[in-house]
Amino acid sequence: MIVMKFGGSSVKDSERMKEVANIVRLELAKKPVVVLSACKGITDKLIETANKANEGEDYSILADEITKLHYNIIKDFNLGNSLVDPILDEFFDLINKIKENNELNAEILDHVQSFGEMLSTRIFAAYFSSIGVSSRQFDAWRIGMITDSEFGGAEPLESAPKKIADALKKVKEVPIVTGFIGKDINGVITTLGRGGSDYTAAIIGAAINADEIQIWTDADGIMTADPRVVKNAKTNEKVSFAEASELAFFGAKVLHPKTILPAMNKNIPVRVLNTYNPKGKGTIIVKEANKSRDVIKAIACKKNITLVNINSTRMIDAHGFLAKVFDVFGDYGKSVDMIATSEVNVSLTVDDDKNLDKIIDELRGIADINVEKNKAIVCVVGEGMKHTPGIAGKTFTALGKNEVNIEMISQGASEINISFIVNNQEADKAVQVLHKEYFGS
Ligand code: ADP
Ligand code: ASP
Ligand code: MG
Repeated sequence: MIVMKFGGSSVKDSERMKEVANIVRLELAKKPVVVLSACKGITDKLIETANKANEGEDYSILADEITKLHYNIIKDFNLGNSLVDPILDEFFDLINKIKENNELNAEILDHVQSFGEMLSTRIFAAYFSSIGVSSRQFDAWRIGMITDSEFGGAEPLESAPKKIADALKKVKEVPIVTGFIGKDINGVITTLGRGGSDYTAAIIGAAINADEIQIWTDADGIMTADPRVVKNAKTNEKVSFAEASELAFFGAKVLHPKTILPAMNKNIPVRVLNTYNPKGKGTIIVKEANKSRDVIKAIACKKNITLVNINSTRMIDAHGFLAKVFDVFGDYGKSVDMIATSEVNVSLTVDDDKNLDKIIDELRGIADINVEKNKAIVCVVGEGMKHTPGIAGKTFTALGKNEVNIEMISQGASEINISFIVNNQEADKAVQVLHKEYFGS
């Protein structure tokens, strides 16, 4: 069995859905489980509609756009609107309720976001069946995607994989499953976090011991940099689980950061492929990557992060200072991405400002704190670094020559990445300079 996940741009209109059907059709012998995202842009539009309703603003244009996009695909496929009308009705009922109650919390927001995948999968399954491939739509909870209640970033329960495997065993048709969403044990809808359909695919792949997890997207694989930032980015044939994890974690949007772990635990290869170039080889992600000629596999970048500098002379020889600092972050459920320490300073980065004020207030009791916003992490990744001296020197010399100002530097204990902080405005330039240095263009 294999899992084939198609992202938003791969199902954005009837043309792209036809291509998805062609691609899946060729793999029927491998018993694919198909996981789909919402049509491109729909999740954003659902959220925007809810925000407008909550603020008492007019959302009719957005509502029309959401309805029309799906109706247009249905019309192209000669199917009936009744396929999606109950789902659209449910969405607009929810939006009305948000407007009336003037309430939009994380739980309601997950419910709002769930409709995109519910719509795309219903349309695709009906189309696929209409062209003679017997297929069946599933909202993910119907095949056992039961999660905790962490709205906006839910995790599957330990019992979920067995439920998923048992449920899928009974399905005779090609299952067409919603990515991104699940339900908690109380039956309340949750999401796995933005971009989470990749994670759904990996969870299902691990649950059924798939031979391969395929992530179909709009790029040729895991490239040497985001092709939107570096025009000459090249496709890696093979990267390791560790490299892919680091790249995803540090901003390579092509994979959701949680995708690798379920695959790695079961040693299932993950292949990243392009629906716009289905004959391409893509990138295969496996336990150990080839000893490549390239020491570096890719450069990733994550913008709009916040840097927190914590200074205290009390750190010198003080037991437990760092523990205290991390306790404060931990108490507020805040994860830290990157850290660097010296005798009197800890610098760390966080993704967003949620609870940051409260954390800083508490830390002020033990240290001087300074917060810098609008920063970016740039991360150079490659297993080859372990055996190649001088990568840090080469990296920072190239940046220095090009007058990119660097603030904080960190090298992961795994020795497969070097990451540093620059201003948001300098991030693309830093990636381009390093791409030229390591890949020649
Ligand atoms: P999907 O809708 O298929 O999930 P995403 O937009 O989430 O697609 O991810 C694909 C995008 O990731 C690409 O269009 C590309 O701009 C971006 N990206 C960032 N870094 C990389 C990289 N190293 N290799 C390939 N794509 C990357
Ligand atoms: N539709 C969701 C999002 O836009 C999940 C995904 O596409 O992976 O974030
Ligand atoms: Mg994605």
